[in-house]
Amino acid sequence: MLSPYISRGVISTKQIVNYILSLNIDWCKIEKIIQELAWRDYWQLIWVNKKNQIFTDLKNPQQNIENHKIPDAIINAETKINAVDEAIKVLYSTGYMHNHMRMYVASVCCNVAKCHWLTPAKWLYSNLYDGDIASNHLSWQWVSGTFSNKKYYANQSNINKYFNSGQKGTFLDVEYPDFYSMATPNILKPVSDLKTNCILPSLNDPEIRNIKTLVFNYYNLDPDWHKNEGFQKVLLLEPSFFEKFPINQNCLDFAISLSVNLKNIKLFVGEFQELAQIISFENLFYKEHPTNKHYKGNEENRDWICEQKGYYPSFFSFWKKCKKELKAKINENET
Ligand SMILES: Cc1cc2nc3c(=O)[nH]c(=O)nc-3n(C[C@H](O)[C@H](O)[C@H](O)COP(=O)(O)OP(=O)(O)OC[C@H]3O[C@@H](n4cnc5c(N)ncnc54)[C@H](O)[C@@H]3O)c2cc1C
Repeated sequence: MLSPYISRGVISTKQIVNYILSLNIDWCKIEKIIQELAWRDYWQLIWVNKKNQIFTDLKNPQQNIENHKIPDAIINAETKINAVDEAIKVLYSTGYMHNHMRMYVASVCCNVAKCHWLTPAKWLYSNLYDGDIASNHLSWQWVSGTFSNKKYYANQSNINKYFNSGQKGTFLDVEYPDFYSMATPNILKPVSDLKTNCILPSLNDPEIRNIKTLVFNYYNLDPDWHKNEGFQKVLLLEPSFFEKFPINQNCLDFAISLSVNLKNIKLFVGEFQELAQIISFENLFYKEHPTNKHYKGNEENRDWICEQKGYYPSFFSFWKKCKKELKAKINENET
């Protein structure tokens, strides 16, 4: 459950990997967790390299789509797949859903209910405390076969095995070959557009001055960034950003609660250009991210696990290079 803190930029994948490496544990015991962290960097790199293309079918057009909406049964946690419904209720109350369950939900929406992946992907993102456009949207693309060679399916017995349930007779209680010719189950037929509820705070801090300023945002709440260097700190919440990437109120509240780690941070609700009318560009410092390409001033690099910066069409081609770099680093530290 590290991911809400990584997604909100409180800690970085690199910090975690460096910490794990400092423990001097055998590589075979740490490879799995490092590989999982590398998945996040991999999705981020695709976003950096492919830019807005990640909002469209990336490698293949999604096959067999009936609509661009989301099933009401998913929104209302009424699919009658008990483990799925329970997980959606937990998502609404905690902002968290297990990785396997995210895959099952995506498979039900895209491959069983035949919705295009984008609207349901936005729904999940809008409810996750760890919402990260790259990890989220590209995982949905992976499940729906637009960033992989085949669609991902999970049947009831798979769900029963991993979620310790014994349910039978549901629309997922079929053998895998049956999925390819399955009609959309009636319960998944009513569909809706995405609805979110998020009200940005209305008060701005009147004390914002034209001095060297660190700009924090929904993806960067790093309390160690230029710590104790006398910068003014501003949390910028842009209405246009939340319109483009809608979230629910509890996710915003979670992010704002994390900003208390940033001593004396000042809130600015408005567009970057409006902030730039108060603070000149040479005084503005921010971390590179695909969501803030319109910022101007001093852009700083963010942390990555390894030096690879290009586009890799498959995770394992990226991981091969990343692993080589990490192993070289371990050898260097040992000698
Ligand atoms: C459909 C779908 C949507 C997803 N949406 C998001 C999202 O919006 N934000 C998000 O952070 N993750 C997303 N993931 C990835 C993964 O589900 C979460 O990172 C993971 O569940 C977070 O829980 P954890 O911290 O306990 O993970 P752990 O299992 O403890 O893993 C440790 C860390 O490794 C990284 N990680 C592990 N698995 C993945 C993965 N498959 N992809 C990317 N990073 C991974 C995360 O940074 C995670 O915190 C999504 C996966 C799917 C299938």
